[in-house]
Amino acid sequence: MATRTQPNIIITGTPGVGKTTHCEMLAQNTGLKHLSVNDVVKERECHEGWDEEFKSWIVDEDKLLDSIEDEVKEGGCIIDWHACDLFPKSWIDLVVVLRVGSEKLYDRLKARNYPEAKLQENLDSEIMEVLLQEARDSYDEEIVIELRSDTTEEMEANVERIEAWVKQWRKDNSN
Ligand code: ADP
Ligand code: MN
Repeated sequence: MATRTQPNIIITGTPGVGKTTHCEMLAQNTGLKHLSVNDVVKERECHEGWDEEFKSWIVDEDKLLDSIEDEVKEGGCIIDWHACDLFPKSWIDLVVVLRVGSEKLYDRLKARNYPEAKLQENLDSEIMEVLLQEARDSYDEEIVIELRSDTTEEMEANVERIEAWVKQWRKDNSN
């Protein structure tokens, strides 16, 4: 049994689905902490260098896990990352997999000036449901939810739904 008094949530999905936007809104509305793994990797140098073709850091997962272990075990973290299978099951209470249609994703990644190889890889990954499968393979099915993130209305509804879940978790875990 977890001893934390606040839940840990992973918000995952292909780059461009809306993870960071969701996390920021959720952090604001719930008081939970937005843990941007991107920032941690950069700031705490949990990487083995820069991949020029993909314009991204080559993550050192062991170093990353060591670096966030204490704060995550305390509870109250919203983890923002495009992978989820590296986090131990015992750390996590809810896994949200955000999904988006191909055209929207294409536009969002294009707006970020993603190199063509990276853009294609991410579009394929979204179509193939890679992150959803990873979440389902790594966590109990009851804690994995899939939410659509095509529109602002959907995002607001998603945030409300997760907030309601947080409220219930707090009720169930207080005594
Ligand atoms: P991620 O962190 O998953 O890469 P972001 O949160 O940075 O995604 O969102 C990428 C872009 O898409 C941002 O410009 C954001 O404003 C926009 N966006 C994300 N989710 C939605 C949504 N549900 N509806 C409309 N625009 C969105
Ligand atoms: Mn992001």
